[in-house]
Amino acid sequence: MDRSEALREPLRGASHLECTGTGTIIDCEQLIGLSSTGKPLFARYDLEAIRAAFTPHAVSSRRSDLWRYEEVLPVRNREAQVSLGEGWTPLTEAPRTAARLGVRRLLIKNEGINPTGSFKDRGLCLAVSRALELGARELALPSAGNAGSAAAAYGAAAGLPVHVVVPSDTPAPILEEIAALGADLQLLDGLISDCGKVVRRGVEEHGWFDLSTLKEPYRVEGKKTMGYELFEQLGHLPDAIVYPTGGGTGLIGMWKAFDEMERLGWIGSERPKMFTVQAAGCAPMVRAWEYGAQHADVWDGAATYASGLRVPGAVGDFLILRALRESGGGAVAVSDRAMAEWVARLGADTGIFAAPEGGATAAAVQPLMGMGLIHEEDEVVLFNTGSGLKYAGMKPLDG
Ligand SMILES: *Cc1c(COP(=O)(O)O)cnc(C)c1O
Repeated sequence: MDRSEALREPLRGASHLECTGTGTIIDCEQLIGLSSTGKPLFARYDLEAIRAAFTPHAVSSRRSDLWRYEEVLPVRNREAQVSLGEGWTPLTEAPRTAARLGVRRLLIKNEGINPTGSFKDRGLCLAVSRALELGARELALPSAGNAGSAAAAYGAAAGLPVHVVVPSDTPAPILEEIAALGADLQLLDGLISDCGKVVRRGVEEHGWFDLSTLKEPYRVEGKKTMGYELFEQLGHLPDAIVYPTGGGTGLIGMWKAFDEMERLGWIGSERPKMFTVQAAGCAPMVRAWEYGAQHADVWDGAATYASGLRVPGAVGDFLILRALRESGGGAVAVSDRAMAEWVARLGADTGIFAAPEGGATAAAVQPLMGMGLIHEEDEVVLFNTGSGLKYAGMKPLDG
């Protein structure tokens, strides 16, 4: 490396944070939640400075976890990169499911093989690593289940205490896992939004750092790595991505990744059509999409056995709806019974035991084709966001 190159070698980490509502720029060297206007903050990077060296070719021989993308991740010091082998999950060809659904090509991004069995590991890996680096002492979050497991795991790996508040009807295997991973587990008769209130009290009274999705800036950075991986594994972006949406962090993250990848020169202006799938018993984004709204009203009486989709309101609602709109995608709701049927079909067709949320993505394809949004000639990627094993004993609520 000559001297001019050495001088240009960038710091690892973000350059600043930006409010997704107002565009206001904020210093990123502080533990922080939402912006002053109550919107999620996005980490921004000096992409011009890393563009020459951070290429798909350079990345191709790196470690097989999400830290292969460290230049576009917010952690500055390698010692703070907590890792349990998260990310770089298989993108599995599913020809029998493609034939069954009548699309040209169908692939499944199988997030069930992450360390705690769901893609929540990606987000919590980054949030915990960065919180560790910035000096957080106690972590907390409300969860529908899988985020609690992931926070407990990464908190344990980082040596930081974690408080997890979950609804009492969270699947038993997930409760056992959270407890086994050493977290302080609190059960509540209520929804994830009620659990959020308990966490906020802990933040005020005990100084906990709140890891709620999109309420700190870095879970979305972990989830965006799914976008980089998809491109690396496929060699291009697919025509359509079908994503089971709760808080929407993965969809928002991938949309952000595509924007970064264009600025880095990895891709052009092409984008996949982004599709949100929700449960018929909790579909705030689908309802907002159908009304053409910019924000989603909170869903009353949320009910589905797909616990990751039981999210009545999302702080990033406007970012989800914007990505659906700008990509030419859409949103659809499916019944619990349809999710369960597709979990069985996917299992028999592919060898992947999907979570109900993964089943939901397969269940959504034919309705989306019926709406003229997915076509026979499309190459479609379904996100199986978790392992079916985590839902042992759970039954469809409308089945
Ligand atoms: C959390 C979760 C979802 C929803 O993910 P978001 O990024 O919050 O929309 C989907 N599936 C599973 C298995 C989950 O745990």
